[in-house]
Amino acid sequence: MASASFLSTISKRLEGKVAIVTGGASGIGEATAKLFSEHGANVVIADVQDELGNSVSNALGSPSHSIYIHCDVTNEDHIQNAVDRTISIFGKLDIMICNAGISDETKPRIIDNTKEDFERVLSINVTGVFLCMKHAARVMVPTRSGCIISTASVSSSVGAAASHAYCSSKHAVLGLTKNLAVELGQFGIRVNCLSPYAMVTPLATKVVGLENEVFETALSMAGNLKGVILRVDDVAKAALFLASEDAKYISGHNLFIDGGFTVYNPSLG
Ligand code: NAD
Repeated sequence: MASASFLSTISKRLEGKVAIVTGGASGIGEATAKLFSEHGANVVIADVQDELGNSVSNALGSPSHSIYIHCDVTNEDHIQNAVDRTISIFGKLDIMICNAGISDETKPRIIDNTKEDFERVLSINVTGVFLCMKHAARVMVPTRSGCIISTASVSSSVGAAASHAYCSSKHAVLGLTKNLAVELGQFGIRVNCLSPYAMVTPLATKVVGLENEVFETALSMAGNLKGVILRVDDVAKAALFLASEDAKYISGHNLFIDGGFTVYNPSLG
């Protein structure tokens, strides 16, 4: 039987840590913020949805354990401010979750896609992640510690029915993650990527235009792992693992949470 001291160390896996979660007002980011807080971290919610962001932060114990900061990830001043305020309030930054993202309407034919739509998705999903990584590195390198996690998607690695812009953006997120893992390894900073399959969140339901339950059932039958439903909590648990000491030698990794979707080839039976 495990000793009590062992159990206490695993029950609070981020005790004393400070995390920023971009896109923390909703979906995967909200679930991650909640789980990190349950595991002892102080969590900064950085988002553009002020009402939702404040309500998540209040639920986590604002202002002593959590704060909400209005932060558009495409605006470098906003990100710099979010990182600097985190340091001034909580004293440090241990974990940066670069999660904020959008999708656009699926338009399978490239001819139907506009330059403006393409650039809008890339500015949030790629430039936003780049800026968050940059300002996390700015404060982590001098302390020679830290952990950066990006949220990509299975679209980081395969083409699918998702939009051209979304798929391009998630490939770029993976590229940024790998490159930064190489750059920051010498400082003891780990950089990893999460690549989930589809699940019900406001982002995904907006794209498919289905009721949540119908969408969830369709998803459970569409993937490789039939009948199993992926939920935001499952992605949050993967983020917790990567952020914890259990992953101390894992960097530059793309962790698929996809039930085997990216390795499944239906033509092979
Ligand atoms: P969501 O819409 O529930 O949450 C996204 C959050 O990002 C929202 O709170 C939104 O306000 C915020 N956001 C959007 N633009 C922003 C900006 N410019 N600055 C700051 N915040 C901004 O969606 P989600 O599904 O939880 O998405 C989170 C991440 O997970 C995204 O990067 C998405 O691409 C990725 N992802 C989602 C799925 C899925 O099926 N839901 C699958 C794979 C990957």
